[in-house]
Amino acid sequence: MTAQPQPTSSSAPSGSSERRTSVRRVVEARGLGKTFDPDGAGVTALENVDLEVSAGEFVSLIGPSGCGKSTLLRLIGDLTDATTGEVLVNGRPARQARLGREYGMVFQAPVLMDWRTVARNVELPLEVMRFPKAERERRSSRLLRLVELDDFAGKYPWQLSGGMQQRVAIARALAFDPKLLLMDEPFGALDEMTRERMNLELMRIWRETETTILFVTHSIPEAVFLSTRVVVMSPRPGRINRVIDIDLPHPRTFDTREQRRYFELVIEVREALRGIEMAVDADGGRPDERIVAEGLS
Ligand code: ADP
Ligand code: MG
Repeated sequence: MTAQPQPTSSSAPSGSSERRTSVRRVVEARGLGKTFDPDGAGVTALENVDLEVSAGEFVSLIGPSGCGKSTLLRLIGDLTDATTGEVLVNGRPARQARLGREYGMVFQAPVLMDWRTVARNVELPLEVMRFPKAERERRSSRLLRLVELDDFAGKYPWQLSGGMQQRVAIARALAFDPKLLLMDEPFGALDEMTRERMNLELMRIWRETETTILFVTHSIPEAVFLSTRVVVMSPRPGRINRVIDIDLPHPRTFDTREQRRYFELVIEVREALRGIEMAVDADGGRPDERIVAEGLS
């Protein structure tokens, strides 16, 4: 009996079709928990979290303040130690993955060095790792082209707008060609228009680099627009409450935000969050003002 030919394998080399069909796990978190100050007041920031992220996904974490989004990202990035459970990144313990420069990180503040040019900010991690000058320059000019800042390579951070500075931070995080990009509210400080432009830009970068992205946000529209999956978290203790598949077609464009399916998904995420807010209220907690504001907008 002859095997059925795979629809994708006829024109593609077998290697690449194999890559496409076999799901590679970039993040695997099992039974992950984090308690701060266990001997004192003991804040359980995260409890029993399981999360798998496959290669090429764009997963957003959303939830009220204090539900452990940053803690989860920091555990995956090995910036803090887990109290329970384990994290694998590309099949290796998070510590090893960090030392192997397998992920890049971007935070809300771009943290650029004002006395270094844009290009030399992007090159900084490569300098620390003693990459040869020619290679550093090759990489920084490729990355600045990617974030459309090649004309600003010789400028200083203070000569750039907030959105441009954040693009420099993204280029710097991509300096080692990481398979995983961890982003903690990277556009939280930007105005709405700039944020929407950055969302489009990030979608293009994600597609061009094929990097897997784990993204923390407070914005429901942003989470829906960007993601392949939205992970809704709840506080006290931080847990994963729901995971919503975002089945909007790619590429996501300006028009995506006007599609009926987009609105349906925004409502779905909003309702999941409202359920959490109501539970928090009943519990005597204060709802997060930012979430409420965006939920009503
Ligand atoms: P989010 O990013 O969702 O707003 P965080 O992960 O920052 O939430 O925080 C989760 C919980 O852990 C909160 O209750 C917060 O106060 C607590 N927490 C975070 N970092 C620390 C820390 N370094 N020490 C003590 N408690 C912390
Ligand atoms: Mg946070």
